[in-house]
Amino acid sequence: MEKLKQRIVEDGVVVSDQVLKLDALLNHQVDPQLMMEMGKEFAERFRNEGVTRVVTVESSGISIAFATAYELGVPLIFARRKKTLLAESDMLCERVPSFTKGIVTDIMISREFISENDRILFIDDIIANGDAARGLIKIIQRAGAELVGAGIVVEKAFQLGANAIREQGIRLESLVVITSLEGGKVTFAND
Ligand code: 5GP
Repeated sequence: MEKLKQRIVEDGVVVSDQVLKLDALLNHQVDPQLMMEMGKEFAERFRNEGVTRVVTVESSGISIAFATAYELGVPLIFARRKKTLLAESDMLCERVPSFTKGIVTDIMISREFISENDRILFIDDIIANGDAARGLIKIIQRAGAELVGAGIVVEKAFQLGANAIREQGIRLESLVVITSLEGGKVTFAND
């Protein structure tokens, strides 16, 4: 998605060889118009999959997942992050390391909002090691729902998450793929 690449070049800040700050468009300030365009793009890619619900993890995935769910005309569910060890009985819960916070958090979705009749599209902002995605996939599987695929705004291909998910046979689509952040420069696939 050329427009997104351009925004990343203009407004993204390379924090290190591993981390790209996208606070100006995705993770702190949100550009609603760009979000809706990206939501439309994901909706088009997954339109024939019979999606019944879009699922993401709070908080950075919510805006793009909302845009996608709106375009598909289905509800959005965001997994909540909770730091307690005590899982409530009607909650499906997984423990995942947080890439940016350097801590472990529990993510959870109520059984009330996901069932074996669902065809789920997982949407998220950025994929690095894939821990958040793996946690959510486990929750979806435990609910007995079907995961039709994953839509990710920014894939950092030099980290292993996206390809590990693909190797599980899951369709994972990214809007842009970054192959390196070395030297303070964002390098995209196909550049
Ligand atoms: P993973 O679980 O795939 O290692 O990391 C995914 C989550 O960590 C994403 O939802 C995203 O919020 C955050 N994250 C991972 N890498 C980056 C990064 O380079 N920049 C920012 N801003 N967030 C990141």
